[in-house]
Amino acid sequence: MRQRFLALIIALSLLLSACGQPATPAAELPTPVAQITKLPESSPNPTSQAQPTNSPELELPAEPKNRTVYDLDVNLDYAQHTVSVVERITYYNRNNQAMNEILLLIPPRYFPGTYSEGKISGDLVAQSRENGIQTMLSLEPALQPGASTQIQIIFTLILPNRQGVFGWSDLQTNLVDWFPIIPPFDAADGWQVNERVVDASNTIVGEYILAESADFNLRLRLSGSAKNLTIAASSEGEQQLDFIEYQLPLARTFSLSISDQFVTQEAQHHGVTIRTYVFPQHGEAGEAIIEVAKNALDMFAELFYPYPRQTLSLVAADFLHNMETDGMLLISKGVIDFYRDAPLNNLTILVPHEISHQWLYSMVGNNPAREPWLDEAFATYSEALYFERFQPEHLEWWWANRVEGFEPKGWVDSNTSIPGGYTAYRDAVYLNGAKFLQNLRDILGDEAFFAAIKQYINENTYRIASGTDFFNAIRVYSDADLEILLRQFFARPPSF
Ligand SMILES: [Zn+2]
Repeated sequence: MRQRFLALIIALSLLLSACGQPATPAAELPTPVAQITKLPESSPNPTSQAQPTNSPELELPAEPKNRTVYDLDVNLDYAQHTVSVVERITYYNRNNQAMNEILLLIPPRYFPGTYSEGKISGDLVAQSRENGIQTMLSLEPALQPGASTQIQIIFTLILPNRQGVFGWSDLQTNLVDWFPIIPPFDAADGWQVNERVVDASNTIVGEYILAESADFNLRLRLSGSAKNLTIAASSEGEQQLDFIEYQLPLARTFSLSISDQFVTQEAQHHGVTIRTYVFPQHGEAGEAIIEVAKNALDMFAELFYPYPRQTLSLVAADFLHNMETDGMLLISKGVIDFYRDAPLNNLTILVPHEISHQWLYSMVGNNPAREPWLDEAFATYSEALYFERFQPEHLEWWWANRVEGFEPKGWVDSNTSIPGGYTAYRDAVYLNGAKFLQNLRDILGDEAFFAAIKQYINENTYRIASGTDFFNAIRVYSDADLEILLRQFFARPPSF
């Protein structure tokens, strides 16, 4: 009993921060204990046992042409926590008008003293001006429609000592959002950038980087005194003479997690290499993660389309939240530390959630600051779909613990600037988002609901989708009256 009680506490603590990135370690330990007493005896939500139906396979859109290419020559000194990089970006003007400027977004600048720039150069770069994490490059002459240009950035990172997706700890070094990128450009609205939002308790609310589908080529050299390093990355590395070479097409970014402690496991599943990287104390949890990942990949193959990459890496993270990135997931060591071979555990909840982001983030982009519900509501609802399919006897437990216990309120279409900070954001976007999707499914029926979801994912692959795209897909399969539902959950209900 005590174990189960503890499990619930840990579950609630960690779930609070799925895909959230606290700004300081102190903010990573919310105190949800009181909420346990509020748990209803049973879920008020319908717990339909219906399984997602197989709708016909759809054809993916053509791969976008003239996409941005990032070439990164990286030298990492693990022991000294420094990274030297020569980055070359090949960028095409895909608009109808000449471009006089190109914007660089440089996320490491959020960490003072971390990023130092040697030189920015390029065949058209005339001047640059810095503003926070942005550097605007003036081009002379302008970049003509259909033409391409190369920009080279030489920079060094002195990594911050922090437990997070960017920085180092005694257990690992994480490189997520660690190099300059060019954000999407829209002829009507200009550069698509968001501010990072930090709430009153110093917790970062959601995510802020909007990225296009691009291609990544990376050459990693290791230097310094560190030995026995294991490298987890967004794609499979190929050992060359004195470096490891990585390629990752059609992704939003490229991430790495490096440790001299990792224990790895590997399995093949329908052509995908699933690899886990856990810490020595995690024992058999790596195997358990692989089993959940196999089920989740099968489920999403049917709901969306088969996982489009050759490898999926699930990596223990030395911090207390979870984070998705292309081809790689960071799962809190807290979740894995607490793994017991029992049906009700956090791995079973969080692994499907994070894997869903391989489609709902990586393949189908959305603005994570303005319309975070597009990926996070469905990622949360994916957990319910997982339980419904693989552990139906615990579906009610999932609704009670994950959603109703928090008595969520707030508009599903809230953005990351929502008053109330991270907790309000989680309640509105993740939890009420999952409730909205269940209600939508109840109104549409399984056949229309799952066909529409599949259409939305397929149509918007390689793109940055909007709420309008989502509801357009719904309308293809159903003319049900959604007005009351949308008024209940949306501050700005879409009109049809
Ligand atoms: Zn998420």
